[in-house]
Amino acid sequence: MATGFGADVYARRCEQALAAATEAGLAGLVLTPGADLAYLSGYTPPADTERLTALALVPGAEPTLVVPALERPAAELAPAALRYADFTDGVDEYRLLAESLPARGRLGVSDSAWALHLLGLQRTLPGTDWVGLSEALPMLRAVKDADELARLAAAGAGADAVFEQILGVRFAGRTETEVATDLAAGLRAHGHEQVDFTIVASGPNGASPHHEPTDRVIGEGEAVVLDFGGLADGYGSDTTRTVHVGPPGPEVREVYEVVRAAQQAAFEAVAPGVPCERIDAVARRVISDAGYGEYFIHRVGHGIGLTTHEPPYLVAGETQPLVPGMCFSIEPGIYLPGRFGVRIEDIVTVTDTGGRRLNDSTHELQVLS
Ligand code: ZN
Ligand code: ZN
Ligand code: ZN
Repeated sequence: MATGFGADVYARRCEQALAAATEAGLAGLVLTPGADLAYLSGYTPPADTERLTALALVPGAEPTLVVPALERPAAELAPAALRYADFTDGVDEYRLLAESLPARGRLGVSDSAWALHLLGLQRTLPGTDWVGLSEALPMLRAVKDADELARLAAAGAGADAVFEQILGVRFAGRTETEVATDLAAGLRAHGHEQVDFTIVASGPNGASPHHEPTDRVIGEGEAVVLDFGGLADGYGSDTTRTVHVGPPGPEVREVYEVVRAAQQAAFEAVAPGVPCERIDAVARRVISDAGYGEYFIHRVGHGIGLTTHEPPYLVAGETQPLVPGMCFSIEPGIYLPGRFGVRIEDIVTVTDTGGRRLNDSTHELQVLS
C-alpha cells in the first residue's frame, strides 16, 4: 500500500488549506473520506460508511478527526498529528462534529460527502452555509511538492515500462479484454497497487474515447488506442498510445501525425502563468487547421495526483494560470465514428521555465503484429 509522508508535511498542508480557505471567505473545512482527507491527514479509511468520519479544520484549532470508536485504532495510525473525537453507536455524531466547528459562516465540505452526513450537519448547524470543496478551493491539491512529483514521475515511468512490454505481446487474433488483462498485470508488476483503467479500443471502438474493453477480436490493419493507469505509491499514472496492427494506410498515418503535432504544440505551450485554457486551445488549433476539429470531442487534459482525474482541468473557460508543480495530462485525440480513433497522452508537470513530461515512451506510430 501507499506510504504516507511525515507529520510536518500534513501540518504544512493543513496550514496552506486554511490560509486558502480564509482567503476564500470560509470559516473552516469538513473533509470526509476521499482524496482531500488523504491529502491533509494521510488517513485513508477502508470505506466511507453510514457512520460519519470527518476531519474538522478550523483556523486556530487543532485538526480534529471525528471517527467511529471502532475505527479509531486504525485512524490513530494516520501520520498527521490530529485530535480524535470518537463516538459509539447511538451517539449524535453530527453534534460531536459541530463541537469542533463554528456555529455560523460558510464551511467548505468534500464534494463526495454523503448526502446523509451533509443533511445531518445542516440540521445540526442551521446557521451555516455549505460549499463544495472543488468549487471553493479547486487548486487545493493542484501544485505538487517535490515528494509528490517524485511519486508521479515513478508512476509515469512504470506506465512507460508497461507500454514497452505491451509492444511485445500479440494483438492480432486476441480480444481487447485479453490485451487489457496484460496491461493490468503490467501495471501491477510495475509498482501500481491500484489499476484504475485499461482501455483497449480497436478499430471502430477507438472512436469512443472511454471505450470499455470488449470481446471484440483485434484484426490486422487496425489502429488500437491503449489508455491505462492507476495508483503507484498513492499517486496516479495515466498514459495513452495508439498503435497499429500491421502497416497503416495513408489516412491513419495522416490523422496520427495531426494528433502528434497537436500534443507536441500543447506541450511546448506549457509555462508558468499561461492560462489552463490556452493549452487546450493550442492543441485544438492544430487539429482544426488540419480539418478534424469536429472530431476532437473532449478537453485536452486533467490534473493528476492522489486521483487520476482532478483539477486543474485544461479546458476552454478555465483561466487559472499554470503554476510550477502542477501536473496534468495532455491528451488530444481524433475520433472518426465507425472507423478508428487516435489519442496520445502524456502527464506533464510545469517547471520554472516550461513543461516536463512524466511519460517518455515514443510518439512514433508503433506497428505491431
Ligand atoms: Zn479520459
Ligand atoms: Zn488516459
Ligand atoms: Zn487522462
